[in-house]
Amino acid sequence: MKHRAALLLALLLPCAVPCAAETETRIPAVAIETASELRDRALKDDVAYDIVESLTTEIGSRLAGSENDLKAREWMIAKFKALGFDKVWSEPVSFPKWVRRSESAAVVEPYPQPLTISALGGSAGTPAGGLVAEVIAFPDLEAMKAAADYTVRGKIVYIANPRMHALRDGHDYGAGSGVRVQGPEQAEAKGAAAFLLRSVGSDGNRLAHTGMTRFSNPDKAIPAAALSNPDADQLDRIIKRGKPVKLRLSLDCGTEGSYTGANIIAEFTGSQRPREYFLTGGHLDSWDVGTGAIDDAAGVAITTAAAVLIGRLPERPARSIRVVAFANEESGLYGGKAYAAQHHLEIDKVILGAESDGGADRIYAMSATVKPEARAAIGQIAEVLRPLGIDYDATLPGSGGSDLSAVHAVGMAGLSLRQDTSRYFEWHHTDNDTLDKVDPEQLRQNVAAYAVAMYLAASAEGDFGSAPGAFEKATASH
Ligand code: ZN
Ligand code: ZN
Repeated sequence: MKHRAALLLALLLPCAVPCAAETETRIPAVAIETASELRDRALKDDVAYDIVESLTTEIGSRLAGSENDLKAREWMIAKFKALGFDKVWSEPVSFPKWVRRSESAAVVEPYPQPLTISALGGSAGTPAGGLVAEVIAFPDLEAMKAAADYTVRGKIVYIANPRMHALRDGHDYGAGSGVRVQGPEQAEAKGAAAFLLRSVGSDGNRLAHTGMTRFSNPDKAIPAAALSNPDADQLDRIIKRGKPVKLRLSLDCGTEGSYTGANIIAEFTGSQRPREYFLTGGHLDSWDVGTGAIDDAAGVAITTAAAVLIGRLPERPARSIRVVAFANEESGLYGGKAYAAQHHLEIDKVILGAESDGGADRIYAMSATVKPEARAAIGQIAEVLRPLGIDYDATLPGSGGSDLSAVHAVGMAGLSLRQDTSRYFEWHHTDNDTLDKVDPEQLRQNVAAYAVAMYLAASAEGDFGSAPGAFEKATASH
């Protein structure tokens, strides 16, 4: 009897002692089948395009803290409800409010002519009537840092960093955006009157690329702007002629108090573990130039449309699907950081996270940062993605995306679906970020990939390793 009881107990409680097979996360075959059907359905689905079209046409640009910020949030709530999400709610996000009214620049000496610029988010304004000062040019930020302060004091610092290349993985964006984010504060520390840089973009259009810059003390902000690539080339040639160069900068912009916006959140409830969820989304804000179609109406649309395809299945996956339209990504990831602060105590409930913020062109690779026991499950997801032309690169990390980087940093397992950005940085943060840049066919491929990843992770037996502080080492190393 004793033996039979022990045997029965062993059958009822398999793996009371950990056994390797049970700690591996696996995705059931039936879910793989459903995900393949979802993938094929997504390739014929136009919900994502309709969302981008509606947001960019009915609202347009969505600068954080502007009137359109509020309008976009109301639009998003109505859209989520109309698309049939089970729950829709918002969570407050506060940030400094930056405004842009006007901007212009010109060469005063030696060859007077106008220059095309765009003020950087976070820039201070110039005195009314503009600021006239001599230019001091540096090839890069390191050269400026090495210069004696007296050579910089009272001048307009110009960093002539090289033009970005059009690359599939956009890897030189980091170098350029680093100059944009850190340069103005470092120039201010040396006593510069203002800061200019070559736009962080790969195009030859006479349009400047805006983007944020950061002053730890906003009271110390100086005027800071980007020159379009052709204008930077022109300034380079003028400087090369060796005569002193004077510019006039007129910026009417600045930080004006604070603003409370919100992350807009919607969820399809899971059938078995509703409190656990796949976290996805994009950012609802955009720069005030363009209509924010590729950055990031497309991301909101791709992830929302993928969730809707799952929500309309006859049977929901085990876990919920949560879409977040993040607030104010552009001036410093405020929405993502607020989400991480509000949800870090339940980070183990996030089965996996993946956000879309790389435009609307096709996804070519997938990578992930998950626990080792979930690698095989990531491989299963990769198999269903392969027919979409997506390769799995197991050597790269996957933080989940810009807004989700803060959530990843507090322990969320992350998946990155990497988009081809060879066209993205031609239009990014310019007047040219408009709907005509969205290719409906490539947009559908994105929806298909997200639908597959979201459905499979939400159906997994076992988890991907989300836990407080789980990926601290991984996030510190890249
Ligand atoms: Zn973005
Ligand atoms: Zn952006």
